[in-house]
Amino acid sequence: MATETPGQETQETLSNLLSETRRFEPPADLASAANVTADAYEEAAQDRLAFWERAAERLTWAERWNTTLEWKPPFSKWFVDGKLNVAYNCVDRHVEAGRGDKVAYHWEGEPEGDTRTITYADLQKEVAKAANALEELGVRKGDRVAVYMPMIPELPIALLACARIGAIHSVVFGGFSASALKSRIDDADAKIVITADGGYRRGAPSALKPTVDEAVADCPGVEHVLVVRRTGQDVPVNERDVWWHDLVERQPSEHEPVPHDAEDPLYILYTSGTTGKPKGILHTTGGYLTQVAWTHHAVFDLKPETDIYWCTADIGWVTGHSYIVYGPLANGATSVIYEGTPDTPHRGRFWEIVQKYQVTILYTAPTAIRTFMKWGDDIPAKYDMSSLRVLGSVGEPINPEAYVWYREHIGANRCPVVDTWWQTETGGIMISPLPGVTAAKPGAAMRPLPGVVADVVDDQGESVPNGGGGFLVVREPWPAMLRTIWGDDQRYIDTYWSRFEGMYFPGDGAKRDEDGDLWLLGRVDDVMLVSGHNISTTEVESALVSHPKVAEAAVVGATDPVTGQAIVSFVILRGGAEESEDIASELRAHVAKTLGPIAKPRQILVVPELPKTRSGKIMRRLLRDVAENRSLGDVTTLTDSSVMNLIAEKLPSAKSDD
Ligand code: ATP
Ligand code: MG
Repeated sequence: MATETPGQETQETLSNLLSETRRFEPPADLASAANVTADAYEEAAQDRLAFWERAAERLTWAERWNTTLEWKPPFSKWFVDGKLNVAYNCVDRHVEAGRGDKVAYHWEGEPEGDTRTITYADLQKEVAKAANALEELGVRKGDRVAVYMPMIPELPIALLACARIGAIHSVVFGGFSASALKSRIDDADAKIVITADGGYRRGAPSALKPTVDEAVADCPGVEHVLVVRRTGQDVPVNERDVWWHDLVERQPSEHEPVPHDAEDPLYILYTSGTTGKPKGILHTTGGYLTQVAWTHHAVFDLKPETDIYWCTADIGWVTGHSYIVYGPLANGATSVIYEGTPDTPHRGRFWEIVQKYQVTILYTAPTAIRTFMKWGDDIPAKYDMSSLRVLGSVGEPINPEAYVWYREHIGANRCPVVDTWWQTETGGIMISPLPGVTAAKPGAAMRPLPGVVADVVDDQGESVPNGGGGFLVVREPWPAMLRTIWGDDQRYIDTYWSRFEGMYFPGDGAKRDEDGDLWLLGRVDDVMLVSGHNISTTEVESALVSHPKVAEAAVVGATDPVTGQAIVSFVILRGGAEESEDIASELRAHVAKTLGPIAKPRQILVVPELPKTRSGKIMRRLLRDVAENRSLGDVTTLTDSSVMNLIAEKLPSAKSDD
């Protein structure tokens, strides 16, 4: 991205415009009792592999490894020759340690009053039965199992049952279409599909089984479809269908967990497809479980005896795999799982759940936080959330203003906020504050975790100095790293390891501030080139969100005859803020003042909604089409494609101000 403009010096790779002076020290009581202290950075810096070995020792191994890391770039093996069973680590060992009565999951269905409490002893029985059932269906170690389910307890049970027998699960988010499901079933060559008749979404049963039927109609490799009855909807039953309650319920509630190799595959998870053809990201067992368990313990300061932990993600995304299922269970945590949407039956539902279960640790996404800001401060204010002590964020850069709102209105200015950067490919958290150590800055992911060697580099792969911006890279292998793209080593090499020699390139831009702390700046594909300056979408969006009338913003670069690209902004106003004549000039002036005149948007459009992927991320590609008056690209991964019509209607008023 470092561009040579004729007549100019080579300039910075990515502009560093936003300056933020707020700092939040860790609360003293949290710091004094923290699971992980500043020493961890020191220890990992001295001997990174020894550090990860100690993290691996938190697990129970059937056989210890011989070699910690075998690195034949870009292919890694961790804990070579080590053997363990992931399900045993997540379930049985807690029961054996006398903690069988401890609650693993407080499950909250979307219909109010529809709840289930599952202890570790319950989970052990359920997982054993499901493992026996899969074996009866002919599923063997190494077979692929596609999972297309609502957020019900049978979902983590199904994953653990696969892990127990060494089958490889491939979860497809329950909002995806039949063709998306089919292409993922085909790519992984899945032998069975586990699903449900439906789940509850926005107050009504929403069917899943018909989508599976449509997807598998043309998948001869699928031998059975195992169906949980959740909603009781009338669903067609075919020859290859098996009801969960018929098959699983009659199984013995014991199952011997055989040890698997540390490098045996655990799962495939397809990335959401924001950036093209989905990639089947492959994760294995030993290194993955080591890192998700350690990071969950460190980043959330999880105290299994006293904390009630709630991650609001869907298990269909990596966040749910690592931080609803594997990390929390490996640590013996008590978690909340919620089936439905935050506005059903009312907009206070999340806070009602926090109050009901006395949640102490909450992990959610910036998109949700900005929605809550839009709905208004008075909603969370109605609930008692004094149990909370740590707040987390993941999925997109968190705008400083959203961070501060989260801290204040959800965390009562008492709870540290950890902004965690990672991706499907990294398997676990990579860059994040530690809640008992870091004086966090709103909007910054701060530092690579101990044992993670991340850096920001320029076009040539050289580290940028403090105050500079560029490409985020990871310089050394880490235990939970993807091992390859399923069936496509070459694409793995090309996608992640070809941009910079010997470094992993995640595709994100970042800057390192004057103190050496890291700020994520969005995907490099979204970076805008305005009059020779590379400007990140994140910084301009954050400047817009820092205006009191703005709840959410998306910006894109649109071709401009004068400046190369010009900044076009789409904004959603906060609850109560009126769309007025001069809002555009007010916001443009605000951005110019916050970031400098170079970042001043050419256009501002007030819109009712923004196009989002099914995991809640802004789809800037479509907004670019709108801004450049092109016909829209593929809208099938949008949550709600009618959003684009609402935005297009706004266009006539989208004239440039000057
Ligand atoms: P696809 O790769 O198919 O386009 P995706 O990248 O949205 O989908 P994920 O792996 O779930 O799928 O998301 C990881 C990406 O999300 C990161 O590469 C980064 O762009 C963004 N991200 C996640 N957490 C953060 C964070 N804390 N700060 C900034 N960006 C984040
Ligand atoms: Mg990605």
